[in-house]
Amino acid sequence: MTMNSIQDIWEEILRSLSSRLTPTAINTWFSDSVPVSLEEYRLVIRTPSEFKKKIISDRFAGTIREVLSDLFSCDFELLILVGDEEYEPEEKEGPDPFSEMAGYTFDNFIVGNSNKFAHAAAISVAENPGKNYNPLFIYGNSGLGKTHLLWAIGHAIHDRFPDKKISYLKGDDFTNEMVRAIKEGKTEEFRNRYRNVDLFLVDDIQFIAGKQSTQIEFFHTFNNIYEAGHQIVITSDRPPMEMSLLDDRLRTRFEGGLMADIAPPDLETRMAIARNKAARLGLLLPDEIIEYIASSVKANVRQLEGVIKRLTAYQDIMNDTITKAAVDRAIEDITVINDIPTPDLIIRETAKYFSLNPEDLKGSNRARETATARQIAMYLMRQLTNLSLHDIGKELGRNHTTALSSIRRIEENMRSDPGLNNVIRDITSNITTSTG
Ligand code: ADP
Ligand code: MG
Repeated sequence: MTMNSIQDIWEEILRSLSSRLTPTAINTWFSDSVPVSLEEYRLVIRTPSEFKKKIISDRFAGTIREVLSDLFSCDFELLILVGDEEYEPEEKEGPDPFSEMAGYTFDNFIVGNSNKFAHAAAISVAENPGKNYNPLFIYGNSGLGKTHLLWAIGHAIHDRFPDKKISYLKGDDFTNEMVRAIKEGKTEEFRNRYRNVDLFLVDDIQFIAGKQSTQIEFFHTFNNIYEAGHQIVITSDRPPMEMSLLDDRLRTRFEGGLMADIAPPDLETRMAIARNKAARLGLLLPDEIIEYIASSVKANVRQLEGVIKRLTAYQDIMNDTITKAAVDRAIEDITVINDIPTPDLIIRETAKYFSLNPEDLKGSNRARETATARQIAMYLMRQLTNLSLHDIGKELGRNHTTALSSIRRIEENMRSDPGLNNVIRDITSNITTSTG
């Protein structure tokens, strides 16, 4: 069944009703009713008289809502207009991403070893859109600057070529928009919206993987833009080959462009970012504090930024100089908000589960249970934080090779040992419900 307009949907509803009602009933109550509008959660129809409205809403509204709910998997309300009663649809305007992302420019992006390749690729694309690297596929963990770079390209192209049409799309919104377009009978508009763009920015593409109909639609959209020679930039939390449910045609397309990863920043880059963010918030921090922040917050630039914002707030409220203790408190606040546990918390909770001390895990004891607990702690750090293997190893006095093999060992054992799965689940829940 393809449904392209509200008329199609209305007919589908009548078809479903016909299995529950006699043809005479349908003819009597619905022959002169027409669909008016289908919105996110509301179907509006029009019927000629108050009497018919009353009958439809008393006797058939429930069934109509059931049919809609079967079709779209969400609840609808039915609004019935009488005669030429006017109807104003509720317009929902989303925020304008261009102004929302105003700060995400190349000027504000700190370049370091971990991101310099992605940065250079982004600059090149911004200078020669559609020419060199198409698509540009930027991938990396959360909070490392993918959306920032994506928008930096958008702003740069907009500044240089104000007439170019730029579309921004979030992977998770694509599915929703597509479903809505079908409901509103606006699939043509939906396709056209992205068909004629000069620059197509697609953020967090991983959300469309695995959703068959969305991927097909996206594939067409992608091809249209690509074949017109227009630029596409995509971000993802992982490379195409690790997106197991990605349509092969899409994977091939993505891999035909340029792939650039962003890794967690090194200490020097984190210090530069911290210094830059502080300066932009008007916060002057001594080098010692900058270094302390940068060496404490490793996983994620979003967190780093969060800590600096916190410190600004402390200073505004208390008008105090920023101490290491204040930094610790800010980090604590931030990790609670973001639900990203600190390595210390992970080690503490893992040790506690096995009735060991955190020092046992950090030390050299090779007793079987201690070794398992140590491996689990590393596995959980990999799962719950963005720390690199190097940093995970270091938290437990190991190197990154040991961290990698420990994590692999746990992953393998989890496949055959349901008991281990339960242990991991219990510790994880202790970590995430722990208040510190
Ligand atoms: P992602 O999309 O990878 O999850 P974002 O692009 O949203 O990450 O970045 C998270 C925050 O960190 C943003 O506020 C962004 O401006 C900032 N950020 C990330 N990388 C950098 C960088 N290299 N220089 C300056 N700010 C950065
Ligand atoms: Mg992002």
